[in-house]
Amino acid sequence: MMQEALHYAMNKKGEAECLLCPHLCRMPPGHTGKCGVRRHINGQLFSLNYGLISALCTDPIEKKSLYHFFPGHQILSVGSFGCNFRCGWCQNATISQCCPDDFGRPEPTPPGVLLESAGKSGGIGLAYTYNEPTVWFEYMLDSARQINDRGMKNVVVSNGYINREPLEELMEVVHAFNIDLKAFDRSFYRRETGGKLQPVKESLKAISRKGIHLEITYLVIPGLNHDALAFEGMIEWIQQELGPETILHLSRYFPARKMQQPPTPAETMQELYHTARQRLPYVYLGNMPASQGGTATRCPDCEQLVIERTGYRVSKLGMDASGKCTGCSKSICIMS
Ligand code: SF4
Repeated sequence: MMQEALHYAMNKKGEAECLLCPHLCRMPPGHTGKCGVRRHINGQLFSLNYGLISALCTDPIEKKSLYHFFPGHQILSVGSFGCNFRCGWCQNATISQCCPDDFGRPEPTPPGVLLESAGKSGGIGLAYTYNEPTVWFEYMLDSARQINDRGMKNVVVSNGYINREPLEELMEVVHAFNIDLKAFDRSFYRRETGGKLQPVKESLKAISRKGIHLEITYLVIPGLNHDALAFEGMIEWIQQELGPETILHLSRYFPARKMQQPPTPAETMQELYHTARQRLPYVYLGNMPASQGGTATRCPDCEQLVIERTGYRVSKLGMDASGKCTGCSKSICIMS
């Protein structure tokens, strides 16, 4: 289903300039942007994937990865098609590196129908995830407004590659973000994603300063972004710019798509985990055997175990109903 895009302008050459993400694609008539899902047709820019759902599933909120936002709850999760990055290791390439035509055009699902599904799912709301939701901004925003009006929660799982104005619009109705920070290295972003690091940092700062719940995911890929010095620099930046209680998920890479090198060694994950823990109290390991730990929440002050996680099962052990540590009364950074 096509819907006229938000955030674009026509220039003097008759091109549509998309202002949604920092690629700022300029499209002559008939051309499509880098994301593959926004096209200039007869003097207007259209979103080609409005309401086209590639995946719809009720997941534990921990699977998004959000460990400090309504822990133990479920959330209806929706994805569409397209992406504004080109990561060689993408696990969802079948829906991200394509256009809707590749999928035989599923029937569009209006935001109102999605709202009803979210209500019936028994979860806390709707998560925009699986592929990059920025590239289906119009559908996400329309759905998020309805979800918000109904008193439910909106969660966005994103690469953070979005311009400030649309991000501000989104932040009015979104309650939590998980943003991928893929490296702390400009050349990595250019080479591996086709994008830039700086706009992602700007998005992280904007979300944090607005006081919206934020968790960050860092996928550790050996040889590409596990350099100890760059990693330390990133942790310092997170602590100083986003706050000392910023939540960080270190996720272990496994071969996918074009990238077939072996998985990240468990020792590398442990080393980076301990580096991060020196500055940040809430650091987690993902895609690792349970025996490696790194999934529990401990009180930053007295180190008491506050939340234990076994797979996606959550036990709140050392936290009272007001969110304080039962050992020392420190407020634990948990939204619920
Ligand atoms: S959203 Fe798509 S069309 Fe718009 S600037 Fe980004 S990549 Fe280009």
